[in-house]
Amino acid sequence: MNKTDISFRDRPINLDEQGSRKWVYAKKPKGLWYKRRTLFSWFVLLIFITVPFIRINGNPFILLDIAGRKFILFGAIFWAQDTLILALLMLSFVLFIVLFTVTFGRLWCGWACPQTIFLEMVFRKVEYLIEGDYRKRYRLDQAPWTLGKVLKKGTKHTLFILISLAMTNTFLMWFIGSEKWFTLIAEPISANITGFMVMLVVSAFFYWVYSWFREQICTMVCPYGRMQGVLLDSKSIVVSYDYKRGEPRGPKTSGDCIDCHQCISVCPTAIDIRNGTQLECINCTACIDQCNSVMKATGKDPGLIRFDSEQGIQHGHKTIWNSRNRAYSVVLFILLSFFVYTLLSRPVIETTILRTPGLLYQEYPNQTISNVYNIKIVNKTHDNIPLEIRLLSHEGEIKMAGTLQEIKDQAMFESTFILYIQGDLLASDKTEVEFGIYSNNELIETYKTSFVSP
Ligand code: SF4
Ligand code: SF4
Repeated sequence: MNKTDISFRDRPINLDEQGSRKWVYAKKPKGLWYKRRTLFSWFVLLIFITVPFIRINGNPFILLDIAGRKFILFGAIFWAQDTLILALLMLSFVLFIVLFTVTFGRLWCGWACPQTIFLEMVFRKVEYLIEGDYRKRYRLDQAPWTLGKVLKKGTKHTLFILISLAMTNTFLMWFIGSEKWFTLIAEPISANITGFMVMLVVSAFFYWVYSWFREQICTMVCPYGRMQGVLLDSKSIVVSYDYKRGEPRGPKTSGDCIDCHQCISVCPTAIDIRNGTQLECINCTACIDQCNSVMKATGKDPGLIRFDSEQGIQHGHKTIWNSRNRAYSVVLFILLSFFVYTLLSRPVIETTILRTPGLLYQEYPNQTISNVYNIKIVNKTHDNIPLEIRLLSHEGEIKMAGTLQEIKDQAMFESTFILYIQGDLLASDKTEVEFGIYSNNELIETYKTSFVSP
């Protein structure tokens, strides 16, 4: 391989020889794949905007309440105590992404990743509307500052700022819920100055990413992009250039590629897909559309750039299933089964009873010993549950500091109680005691802890 062949690997694609940023003026994509991608993006955006407003039986459909240590996913409530279930869910999701990447490459990036959707389908569309397609944008950037340029740039950046603010506030609703968000914005800013500042900083970050940093998130920052090297193999179906059909390239050669560079001009990361699968390719399919239109104009078959595997191009047949993704699918199935089982078998309430730290025991003249406990009960259901606590292992008396009668749906009861037991009923200085949590006289959970005595 000579130096020219590998020159595209000499430095990041968006840096010039001096190491300065080369601004990417990507041509506006057009074609069947772009239409499909636009439709899919609208669907994803619709989900992003509407989910915080969807409610099931008055409860949010999805709520990532980190401050309250509570997650609601598809109407089901998960508390911090459900770490195993959440870990299984996360693991299944990561494995699904791995399985998907092994099979279809970086399709997630070009089609479903919020970074691409907002950049390509929101911010860039505003830019096309105000500044025009790539040549016009390039000329505008090179032109001296006139009133027209100030107006265009000013309008574009004002809209970018407004969209960034809207994005941040929609994200916020995923974490605090739409109802709380409406309550917050009705209050004066001074009442929530910290939250307001955080919202401004996050919006400024979005504005910076989408107005300036742009594709560098995908090519230089995103760790998922870096994993492609280990996840892809010759059977992975990715956006590929059919070098067997295209080469030798040139306007008057036997290969189908006329070397028009149209596929590069439309690429949002400015790469040449003819160099093979690269880290920077987000599988957005813009080059497929562009090359297909060139093929049509030159009277050749479409598909010189298409979704295919290295094996598909080399041997003319592509298969979706191979031993690697079959093995991942089996592991994913096992994980998901375990997740469903854990989810269905989890208790409706979760009780924690621990002796209050720093306190030992108290002795009374009638031979009674007492210990102080902290109790926490989480109601994981959407119903109010009447509860009562009884000592099962011994005869004794419980004196609760608060009133334990009914725990509201998705709520948590926290209190302290004193347990009195006659000294002659205790076998040693550290006796195991068992509590029962009853609802309408039905035992729904038991909890064991220790009772200390002299
Ligand atoms: S658009 Fe197609 S024909 Fe033109 S350079 Fe790219 S691969 Fe070759
Ligand atoms: S090479 Fe093609 S599919 Fe990959 S990022 Fe560029 S335009 Fe998109």
